Amino acid sequence: MAMAMVRVLLLVAMALVGSCSAWELKIHMPTKRLQAIDEAVAPLIHALRPLLGSGGELGSRGGVPCDSWVLGVEAHNVRDWKTVPAKCEGYVGHYMLGNHYRRDSKVVIDEALAYIDTLKLSGNGKDIWVFDIDETMLSNLPYYAKNGFGTRPYNATSFNAYVLEGSAPVLPETKRLYKKLLSVGVKPFFLTGRAEDQRAITVANLHSQGISGWMDLKLKQPGFKGSAVAYKSGERQKLQDAGYVIVGNIGDQWSDILGAPEGARTFKLPDPIYYIG
Ligand SMILES: [Mg+2]
Repeated sequence: MAMAMVRVLLLVAMALVGSCSAWELKIHMPTKRLQAIDEAVAPLIHALRPLLGSGGELGSRGGVPCDSWVLGVEAHNVRDWKTVPAKCEGYVGHYMLGNHYRRDSKVVIDEALAYIDTLKLSGNGKDIWVFDIDETMLSNLPYYAKNGFGTRPYNATSFNAYVLEGSAPVLPETKRLYKKLLSVGVKPFFLTGRAEDQRAITVANLHSQGISGWMDLKLKQPGFKGSAVAYKSGERQKLQDAGYVIVGNIGDQWSDILGAPEGARTFKLPDPIYYIG
């Protein structure tokens, strides 16, 4: 009986090792081998020490329940926060760089794809889907991985310098949704808080990541002073007034999806790094 139990435990351990990510593989590797892995899986964004998952011990270390804090953020119970709690930098870093962020994003996109299959589309070219850009279509994780995963106050200078590199990677799950919409004749419409003077680099960045064929790209005009909700809902109202039907709306911030008209259905992607009200 005891032997059988040991055998089961060994199998579980082997399965866990088998499912390790590139981060976790680094634990027992000599330095030269590590460098080879670094090159093979580049770009490795941040050399965090790997842990088995992003929750557990790390989440509650120092009395800060980081997993509960993130849940509160995603459910919009925690609002108007300026920075990620300092003690949660490791937790959020592991969440973003490990499989968890991708997994959570996949759940959102799978739901969106299932929803699209239920739609009775007009086929008249008026069906549109509103996409946010940052942390929705493009990821700024390379920037945030070098800047404390949201634990440091927003720095417009350094962030805008990063945006102007035009190197933000696409979020693969959102790209899946984008391609599906194009295939069924729903037009993607980008509505972003990025400024109008970032149009050229934003277009170039999207194109470089295989994103094209959108109906329009709306950036924030100089002098606009209202909230993100006022800006985005106002732009959606204009679309609706022009006869478009917003069949879906996706963003990483609640301010992307709150405020009438929201769209026939909204989807909230995870983002525990920053809050835009
Ligand atoms: Mg965003």
